[in-house]
Amino acid sequence: MQQINVTKTYLPPLEEYTAYLKGIWDRGHLTNQGPLLVELEEKLRNYLGVKHLFVVNNGTIALQIAIKALGLKNEIITTPFSYVATTSSIAWENCTPVFADIDPKTLCMNPDEIKKKITPSTSAILATHVYGNPCNVDSIKEIADTNKLKVIYDAAHAFGVNYKGISVLNYGDISTLSFHATKLFHTIEGGAIITDNDELAHKIGYMRNFGHNGPEAFFGAGINGKTSEFNAAMGLCILPKVSELIEARKRISKIYDELLKNTSLKKPELTERTEYNYAYYPVLFETEEQLLETRKRLNENSIFPRRYFYPSLNTMNYVGKQDAPVSEEVSRRVLCLPLYYDLENDDVKKVAEIIKSLIE
Ligand SMILES: *Cc1c(COP(=O)(O)O)cnc(C)c1O
Repeated sequence: MQQINVTKTYLPPLEEYTAYLKGIWDRGHLTNQGPLLVELEEKLRNYLGVKHLFVVNNGTIALQIAIKALGLKNEIITTPFSYVATTSSIAWENCTPVFADIDPKTLCMNPDEIKKKITPSTSAILATHVYGNPCNVDSIKEIADTNKLKVIYDAAHAFGVNYKGISVLNYGDISTLSFHATKLFHTIEGGAIITDNDELAHKIGYMRNFGHNGPEAFFGAGINGKTSEFNAAMGLCILPKVSELIEARKRISKIYDELLKNTSLKKPELTERTEYNYAYYPVLFETEEQLLETRKRLNENSIFPRRYFYPSLNTMNYVGKQDAPVSEEVSRRVLCLPLYYDLENDDVKKVAEIIKSLIE
């Protein structure tokens, strides 16, 4: 039986990729801001409608450079409901993650909870657009402006998402993307840092390249955030297909919606005025027991959904004990169902049938 996983990486026709390889061989320029990377950055800026965009070697480095470029210190208010990189990047940069609980409907950080966590040591808010669903960016901006805090959005899931008619990446001081192979748009490994602030852009530009200002001069400390031409080539092959990939995911999501509509499963609520990218298909079970039993049965049928996100990040051993009851509760009950561009209708039906045989 063919295995059905939560996602499947889109690979372009091999000839399209090898055409780029020919150019790499001819030029002998393999990395260090090569022509394919420059072309990819330009195309991404246009596609996404953002001012400055720096491709880096993964989404975690993107977060860490963002924290460094903003000079953040002490406490950063963040979400307990995200991938672990959101929290670990804060700890890795010697800042303290302070968790603000999530809104049970959108599963993004709840602005009222953010307000409660602000102290004189707070330097920033680091929020995730969970499953590509935009955070309450207007409230977060107001809170940040009032309290003189910086805002970073972990937009790893939000490639191609628009909010109020523009890319959601335009909100906050910095947004970061992941181009990991499991993401909607990928460069095998990769990520990006987005800002509309020229001064920050300058810093990010040198920080991702060891701090270099020419071969023998340095602006300041930096890290190796560079990306190879091989990764850029993959991105260039996939970018023209992204709209099609989103359409395919939308179609499959609608089939799930239809098949699962009369069950006790709930879905997160999409933020209003959002053009969504259908990056994930999360469902909330009534109980964790139901989820575990369903997952077991799906696994027996070679179907492998994932518990995105479990466990809740406030329970990690390196963050100290902090409460986030909504996130903990949601983490226990949420499962992302298989969703990818060429998932067959029959497989979607099979997943839905198995789930329905176990829950009301
Ligand atoms: C994937 C992901 C990351 C990390 O990105 P990498 O490219 O794998 O380093 C960070 N945050 C979120 C929310 C993610 O889903």
